[in-house]
Amino acid sequence: MRKIISLLGKPCAGKGTLLRRFLEGKEDQYICVSFGDALRKEVEKETILGQQAKIYMEAGKLIPDYIIINIALGQIRKAPENMSLILDGFPRTAEQAEAAVEAKMGITHVVNVKISDEEAIARSANRVVCPECGESYTLNEYKKPKKEGICDRCGVKLVRRSDDKPEIIKERLESFNNYTIPAIKRMKDSGVEYLEVVL
Ligand code: ADP
Repeated sequence: MRKIISLLGKPCAGKGTLLRRFLEGKEDQYICVSFGDALRKEVEKETILGQQAKIYMEAGKLIPDYIIINIALGQIRKAPENMSLILDGFPRTAEQAEAAVEAKMGITHVVNVKISDEEAIARSANRVVCPECGESYTLNEYKKPKKEGICDRCGVKLVRRSDDKPEIIKERLESFNNYTIPAIKRMKDSGVEYLEVVL
């Protein structure tokens, strides 16, 4: 049966890591849409959407619902019917969840990767990412790249995410606690299968 999995979690909870582990050997069955990565690409390309999104993202705030809902609808429409989908970072507000249910987007599962606020703050201070593939590494020994400051896969220079600054991380955690928890509740009420994961 076709699955449409919504992957959610606080910043630095490990959604990317979980996704990579889960997809191993199943790459031909799943299409993965990362809303954060897609928006960062738009910002990089300086498209009209990117210019709008940048203001919200740099402040650690969520992008307006109508923009995100349109992206989600477009992605689901264009995915081949025989492929399952992973929506990384959707729905993140009760309004987005409502739209997903109303528009019968067909979300079958919600996976919530759990972490405490304190741990998220600590991990974000220690994280560098690849601007090309989105892979995360740590500055400490936990997950250092083979060559210092360089992505193991892409060979490009690792960067700090501008929204990993301590004051912005607090804002992103607030967004999760205030908006995404109600989104998860709305999805659970709609009858999807709900799973919690701790990494
Ligand atoms: P996080 O580590 O916070 O989960 P993401 O890479 O998923 O980061 O998202 C980065 C930013 O992109 C968010 O802080 C937000 O500004 C924007 N964004 C991503 N998904 C959504 C969404 N569903 N609704 C609104 N904004 C979003």
